Amino acid sequence: MIKFLDLQQINLRHKAELLAAFERVIDKGWFIQGKEVAAFEAEFATYCGTKHAIGVANGLDALSLILRAYKELGVLSDGDEVIVPANTFIASILAISANNLVPVLVEPAEDTFLFDAASIKACVTAKTKAVMPVHLYGQLCDMEPILLLAEEYGLKVIEDAAQAHGASYKGKKAGSFGDAAGFSFYPGKNLGALGDGGAVTTNNDRLATVIRALANYGSAVKYQNQYKGGNSRLDEVQAALLRVKLRHLEADTARRRNLAKRYLEGIHSTKIILPKMLREEGHVWHLFVVRTADRHALQQYLAQAGVQTQIHYPIPPHQQQAYAEWNHLSYPITEKIHREVLSLPMSPILSEVEIDQVIHLLNAY
Ligand SMILES: *Cc1c(COP(=O)(O)O)cnc(C)c1O
Repeated sequence: MIKFLDLQQINLRHKAELLAAFERVIDKGWFIQGKEVAAFEAEFATYCGTKHAIGVANGLDALSLILRAYKELGVLSDGDEVIVPANTFIASILAISANNLVPVLVEPAEDTFLFDAASIKACVTAKTKAVMPVHLYGQLCDMEPILLLAEEYGLKVIEDAAQAHGASYKGKKAGSFGDAAGFSFYPGKNLGALGDGGAVTTNNDRLATVIRALANYGSAVKYQNQYKGGNSRLDEVQAALLRVKLRHLEADTARRRNLAKRYLEGIHSTKIILPKMLREEGHVWHLFVVRTADRHALQQYLAQAGVQTQIHYPIPPHQQQAYAEWNHLSYPITEKIHREVLSLPMSPILSEVEIDQVIHLLNAY
């Protein structure tokens, strides 16, 4: 059996280090907003190349808190439009609608799964105030033209970097391009906690201060509440564990890149469309997503041969019941992508032999 993602084995590699980190926290007896979170925030900010990293409870909160902070700062108001790809994971869109902002869905390119500046530009209106590039599957959007466009129209750029820890372009990492970025440390992400976790990165001091307060009951000084905030904090245990995982992230990413290269060079089946890389470097291969006309048949064929695959994602956001108001809309590229995508096994613990087995099966299909 070739597993899609074996979280047990992924974390067992670091069992001794993780236990030592946990022991540090339990011995100290301090569980919320302590030295582990502060240290992880400093280390993650350095890793991303940003001035601030703010630990929060999860990736959805990270995105939502950025938007909420911009509302508190008077930059965004109810009803403002935020442009977001139509083919993203639902959380990107939930963060926007949770803040009484209007998600405007934009079609991606079929081959890279990413939207671009030209398609964003076509959707800009007088109400557009922000754009949320999603570095889907671990590949950075083409940020230079998007940043130029944002500057031209005065839009805030909020990166959804939940799948793109360490993805880079000309030495700059995901989370350092826009005004702010949201990261997720959900266990299955490239940098995964042993539970939920997330972070916001930004170079903006004021934004960072407001987000910190909003995530802590709207309070910067204990028992003084400046905002009607919430509770969205990364805890000491997850921070301590994430510090261990962060030390191994670059090695894991290098491994993912090797395996992706093997897939790209090895798969020759005319029935399978390989993912297109926007550029030679920088992709962190959170997922290796191929397309095929008859996905169900391919998935069944691989399953019978003992290869687990997944679908990211089976239903596009505009066809979800939660967004019934969009159900009549048509986004043909997005719909085609959701019909055809299949995620092959991808993780830093897969062996070359296992990847070659998958390649062999696909070429024989
Ligand atoms: C995982 C994910 C999120 C949400 O992160 P959680 O930690 O699960 O809340 C947001 N956007 C994208 C693109 C994701 O993949």
